[in-house]
Amino acid sequence: MKSLMREILTRALLFTGAPAVVRALFWRDRVAILLYHDPTPATLDAHFQYLKDKVEFVPLSQANSRGNGRPRVAVTFDDGHVRNANLLPVFIKYGVRPTIYICSSVVAHERTHWWLHPIAKNAGVKRLIRMKNDERLAELDARGFRQDRLDEAATISGLSAAQIEAMRPYVDFQSHTRFHPTLTRCEEDECFEEMAVSKVEVERIVGKPCEHFAYPYGIYGSREVALLKAAGYKTGRTTDVGWNDEGSDPFRLKAFDIEDDSSAQWFAAQLTGLTLVLRYLRLGRIRRFGARLFARPQSLNRA
Ligand SMILES: [Zn+2]
Repeated sequence: MKSLMREILTRALLFTGAPAVVRALFWRDRVAILLYHDPTPATLDAHFQYLKDKVEFVPLSQANSRGNGRPRVAVTFDDGHVRNANLLPVFIKYGVRPTIYICSSVVAHERTHWWLHPIAKNAGVKRLIRMKNDERLAELDARGFRQDRLDEAATISGLSAAQIEAMRPYVDFQSHTRFHPTLTRCEEDECFEEMAVSKVEVERIVGKPCEHFAYPYGIYGSREVALLKAAGYKTGRTTDVGWNDEGSDPFRLKAFDIEDDSSAQWFAAQLTGLTLVLRYLRLGRIRRFGARLFARPQSLNRA
């Protein structure tokens, strides 16, 4: 059913020429930040192949810089998944310098991103994401999972220190907190620690300044923005849908949350922004989406 919907939407959007219209009307002079998690090299290659003659690839640090009349793309990945290391040849092939936002206490450790651990999956990840952070951690602890404990039985889900070292000349590594909590469900000191300590940890792992941050699940509010500034970051990337330009709030950068398994056609359809809007409507988030358009941004999305 899902794939049939995709197929219909894709054909309709591509038939009307929507991608070219969007590029000409909205994207020109602006930067689309693409958000991936854990795509395969073949999928990413197909997406870059589609883009390479249509856009200019720029690093994330230029997301809110002045326009030059061309559509621009900044490529980002969240979490620091171990298989991201396989994407390096694709980055080099297309001359793309991506930003990978890492969970700094999970990568370079023998640990598992908490929502990928079987104990969390059995307990229900969606429910856990919405819980107060200390209650979530207490429940996971009671079930036998501690985010800060080395777990030899579990599958290592983050990039290793050696993989990061190999990718370092071609990739900007930045922060996605230490352990990926829902920031708005943290106490203030907890939230600040996740931001500030992660900054130090990323700098220690990578050996370069850490100045950019991505909010876990794209969930944030004005408190999170204030704490991010206080922690010394220069930008914060959300999952709110849209393009960026020199007028954009650097702590509320918008993005296109691309589904990792997208065909090149479905990718092109998502870049119009229309399918992302439909996803919100389909998931019954009309109220939330309305609030996002007309009030301060806040969003609930994938990891
Ligand atoms: Zn994430």
